[in-house]
Amino acid sequence: MTLQRGKVYLVGAGPGDPELLTLKAVRAIAAADVILHDDLVHPAVLDHARPGVRVIAVGKRGGCASTPQAFIERLLAQEALAGHTVARVKGGDPFVFGRGGEELARLRAAGIDVEAIAGITAGVAAPARLGIAVTHRDHTSGVAFVTGHAKPGGAGPDWDALARSRLTLVVYMGVANAAEIRSRLVHGGLAATTPAAVIQDASLATERAVVTTLDALAHTIERERIGSPAIIVIGEVVRAADLARAAPAELVATARI
Ligand code: SAH
Repeated sequence: MTLQRGKVYLVGAGPGDPELLTLKAVRAIAAADVILHDDLVHPAVLDHARPGVRVIAVGKRGGCASTPQAFIERLLAQEALAGHTVARVKGGDPFVFGRGGEELARLRAAGIDVEAIAGITAGVAAPARLGIAVTHRDHTSGVAFVTGHAKPGGAGPDWDALARSRLTLVVYMGVANAAEIRSRLVHGGLAATTPAAVIQDASLATERAVVTTLDALAHTIERERIGSPAIIVIGEVVRAADLARAAPAELVATARI
C-alpha cells in the first residue's frame, strides 16, 4: 500500500489586517490539517482554520529566538509525506523576503506538491496606507524592493546603483540601518532632500507613519521611536503622502519636504 501524499500551500497572509487575506488564502487555511505560521501573521487569520487542526508557530523575528529554517523545511516535508495538507502561512507575500523560494525548492526536490498563493506584500500595502502610489508615472518608472538587512555574509543592495536609478526605493527590514542607508544613498548621489516615509505596523490598529526626508530619516525614526516591522519608502512619490495619516504634524513641518 502506498501512502497518499499531501500537499503544501505556501500562503501569503498580507501585511497584517486579516481583511487583506485573499479568498484563495482563506481556502487553503481552511483545507489544512497542519498550519505553520510565522509571527507577522495576525492571530485572526487562524480563525479560518478547521477546529482541532495542528497550529505551529515558527517565528523568526530579527534578534528573537527563532526556529531554524532547516527545521521548518524538514517539518513541512515530513507532514506532507505523511499525507497531510499543510498551510505554511507567511506575512505579506511568501516570495518577497519570505524564504518562500527556499521552501519551494526544498519541497519540490523531495517530490512534494507545492502551491504558492500570493499575498499583498508590505512594500505595496504600507505606502498605500498613506496614499503613496509606488509607481506613480509622473515621478518614476518603477520601484525597487530591497532589504536593509543583508543576509549574513551577503553583499546587500548596490546602493550606488539604486541612488542613480530614479526608482522608488522600498526598503524592508531597514529601520535599524536607516543611518547607513541614508549615507550610502547620499554618497551615491541621491539628494538628501528626497522625501521619505516610514510606516510601522501597516494596516494594523497599531500603525504609525512619519514623512520626512532622506537626510532626516534616521533621526526621525529614532525620535518617533519607530520600530520593526516597518517599511521605508524613498522617492518623489512620497510627496503625495496623506500627511493627515502621518504623525506628528510638527515633525512634518520641520522635515521641509
Ligand atoms: N514577506 C513579507 C516580508 C517579510 S520580511 C512581505 O511580503 O511583506 C519582514 C519585513 O517586512 C519587516 O521587517 C518590514 O520591513 C516588512 N513588514 C512586514 N509587515 C509589515 C507591516 N505590517 N508594516 C510595515 N512593514 C512590514
